[in-house]
Amino acid sequence: MRLLDPLASDFTSAMENLMHKDTRLTIISNRAPFQLKRKAGKIYYDKNVGGLVSVLDEIMCQGGGTWIAWGESEDTPSRVGIPLDDPKYFMRLVDLTDLEVRNYYQGFSNRVMWPLCHYFLDRCHFRSEYWKAYRGVNEKFARAFDMVSQGQDNIWIHDFHLTLLPSLLRERHRDLSIGFFWHIPFPSSPVFRVLPWRKEVLRGLLGCDLIGFQLRQHADNFLQSVADVFKIPVDLERSSVEFEDRVIKVGVFPVGIDYKKWNDLATSPGNIEKARQIRREVGAEHILIGVDRLDYTKGIRERLRAYEHFLEKYPEYHGRICMVQIAVPSRTRVEEYRILRREIDETVGRISGRFSTRKWVPLRYLYKTFPMEELVNYYAAADTAMVTPLRDGMNLVAEEYAASRIREDGCLILSEFAGASGILGDAVIVNPYDIDGVTESIHLSLTMKEGEKRSRMQRLRQAVKKRDVYWWCQTFLSTLMDVNSKDPYQESLFPTSKVL
Ligand code: UDP
Repeated sequence: MRLLDPLASDFTSAMENLMHKDTRLTIISNRAPFQLKRKAGKIYYDKNVGGLVSVLDEIMCQGGGTWIAWGESEDTPSRVGIPLDDPKYFMRLVDLTDLEVRNYYQGFSNRVMWPLCHYFLDRCHFRSEYWKAYRGVNEKFARAFDMVSQGQDNIWIHDFHLTLLPSLLRERHRDLSIGFFWHIPFPSSPVFRVLPWRKEVLRGLLGCDLIGFQLRQHADNFLQSVADVFKIPVDLERSSVEFEDRVIKVGVFPVGIDYKKWNDLATSPGNIEKARQIRREVGAEHILIGVDRLDYTKGIRERLRAYEHFLEKYPEYHGRICMVQIAVPSRTRVEEYRILRREIDETVGRISGRFSTRKWVPLRYLYKTFPMEELVNYYAAADTAMVTPLRDGMNLVAEEYAASRIREDGCLILSEFAGASGILGDAVIVNPYDIDGVTESIHLSLTMKEGEKRSRMQRLRQAVKKRDVYWWCQTFLSTLMDVNSKDPYQESLFPTSKVL
């Protein structure tokens, strides 16, 4: 299988080239791309929002195959054709019990893997009942695969919920081609090795042929963890490791967005007017925007503190500036997230109480989810975006802001601990823990010369456009197929000089 031109503009024909006629793609992820519902005896579905899901759905519609994911199937079938009226591929739903949801999802995934990989060790709850359920659910996914497998599959597994699955599948079908994409950060080896089940998790992942990460650093951290845990050599030059007589390749594929879609939405006359309307309603000369899931990794609290500090230090901006913070409700059943919500509510209340006047509101806090078509207007309305997570695999909001700045203006303040800083070096890069530094970055964004803002934004937009979500998808899948068609002992797919 030839390696595709990653910048091929015609995604459809590129994907048709890519997929063998006699192989099928099976995507396996924790979350389903749709929520199936039954109403008045009829099945229908809501598409889950997000560029990534739509692109994967597009691939499946073109090439066929199966998507396996967790989904309620109590009164809906566990296997459905998508689209319902003219099926192009099948979705197989894995039904989880309430206990499994509590221990596998809210427990091991959200209270062990998530905080561990984002370097929040004090938030990890290493409970054996969580681990037991995690193992059980991974086995459940493997059984779901057995029901749909036709032996010739290319499998693409997503994320930290399913680390044991590659080896479970490999035990059953030695010749499968298995790719895995790790969306979140992979922590440094001393941090990862805190995990009591580190061996099992790594062994699970090593059932793959190819493991993709967002950054070179994450890929190296993974290889170093394998070296330290199993006391075996790893090849950092070739970005691979030999484990139990197989070679596993490790690659770097930073996730992109649908640049064209965001750019086009921002260009539509209706949306340009809506962005103007937002500016009028906010009523400030300078608008800062933050858009995040309400998660402790996103640094919302720290960002608000920096904004508060800015208002203390630069009173000349009182009456002229407003921060709009969109916080998307997230994991609301997990205790840590409920506490965080209260803390942020308090911080918002304090800032508003301290600085608001009869005529000026310095902070607007919106605890809700906007569809893409509305979010784009907030991006377009804001002079500065503050993307300051304490740790993040990539951060798509940073890319979306750049793609929406069709006039090539605006300023992006970006955390050095977001994966996005690896490709968006033209942003104003900050350490989100350094409140004084973030305060000064707000001031810099207000005082930076227009010419410099423009040239930075032009380069940011180019970077986002060059590696969009189609590039990501094509490059990962073509590399997976290349890995399997080459002698892994001879070929170096990732010579260091070419790796990001
Ligand atoms: N998002 C959305 N509606 C909102 C806020 C955010 O659809 O009101 C989307 C946003 O467009 C982005 C995603 O949520 O695509 C957040 O992705 P990111 O990588 O920034 O963070 P994650 O939530 O995946 O950790």
